[in-house]
Amino acid sequence: MIVNGFAALEQHSKLTPFAYNLETLGPEEVEIKVFYCGLCHSDLSMINNDWGMTQYPFVPGHEIVGEVIATGSAVKNVKVGDKVGLGWQSKSCMSCNQCMDGHHHLCGQGEATIVGRNGGFADKVRSHWSWAIPLPNAIDMSKAGPLLCGGITVFSPIILAGVKPTDTVGVIGIGGLGHLAIKFLKHWGCHVIAFSSNPNKKDHILKMGASKVINSTRPEELESINGKLNFILNTANVKLDWNSYLTALAPKGKFHTVGAVLDPMEISAFSLILGEKTVGGSPIGSPAIIKTMLDFCVRHTIYPEVEEFPMEKVNDAIEHLETGKARFRIVLKN
Ligand code: NAP
Ligand code: ZN
Repeated sequence: MIVNGFAALEQHSKLTPFAYNLETLGPEEVEIKVFYCGLCHSDLSMINNDWGMTQYPFVPGHEIVGEVIATGSAVKNVKVGDKVGLGWQSKSCMSCNQCMDGHHHLCGQGEATIVGRNGGFADKVRSHWSWAIPLPNAIDMSKAGPLLCGGITVFSPIILAGVKPTDTVGVIGIGGLGHLAIKFLKHWGCHVIAFSSNPNKKDHILKMGASKVINSTRPEELESINGKLNFILNTANVKLDWNSYLTALAPKGKFHTVGAVLDPMEISAFSLILGEKTVGGSPIGSPAIIKTMLDFCVRHTIYPEVEEFPMEKVNDAIEHLETGKARFRIVLKN
């Protein structure tokens, strides 16, 4: 079966039309016709081999929504014709302790949609049935793609950290992930403070539900909120003054990063010890939490702010994201 997509042929290259062949569908695999695919910063990092695990030719794309067009003989939960979403992960073993515990995203045998295989900037993509998440009927498919990676990545920490509706929380970096975090936390009931390095985004950020915007790169501006935040979610992938953020946490506060910061994060022990504070991180979330998130989104009409590009304009879309112009998530349409 021939798949037509767009691939980077080498590190830092533009994407070019690329066709590749897939062998017979495995018994537990589904084949998905791609309608839309979001553009995540992780796609850029993979195109540029920032994480040292890209195999070229490389078709990015892991915020996919589409329709199941074929199923293997042992597929459960989805059938041909179902509308589904597929995010960063595309396979779990279904039998290790993590899978049996419902943490399929922590499976040691798991496969990612764009690591060692090709993703959703294409007409078709395959996955294990467990990661082809059935979409609620009422969902707007043109905006749902980014929920499958960006969305779940910021939704899951809210549950992991036990964030309460009465909490005051902070979100660092208001891009694709960060703007969804603001929307989720606002609907959760929280008082939300945004940390952004771009003053041009301020009005938009306030409209999305933040009560205040602080410059993320100016530690002195954080002093006004010292000791006030119960939870901080970092989505930026650059070095910031992390100790200022720990000082902004209230006692027992939690700092959680999902942003893939490559520089080591220097943290002083005393900024953790005195207020019993914790630092953590997480990757995406389990299929069950993705389903819960999608229902929450439909219930509260939570969607990303989307800029739509035709799939053929993928290079324009990448440049738009790379130059910091995306407001706030780009979606490619087939
Ligand atoms: P994005 O749309 O590019 O947003 C990142 C934001 O970080 C930018 O909008 C910007 O926000 C801020 N930022 C960028 N450069 C900065 C700088 N020099 N100083 C201060 N702030 C800066 O990216 P994304 O798609 O949301 O992804 C964010 C990160 O999460 C990436 O590292 C991505 O790989 C990672 N990620 C992790 C997971 C996971 O499972 N943990 C899943 C998906 C993505 P402001 O303009 O508001 O400052
Ligand atoms: Zn992603």
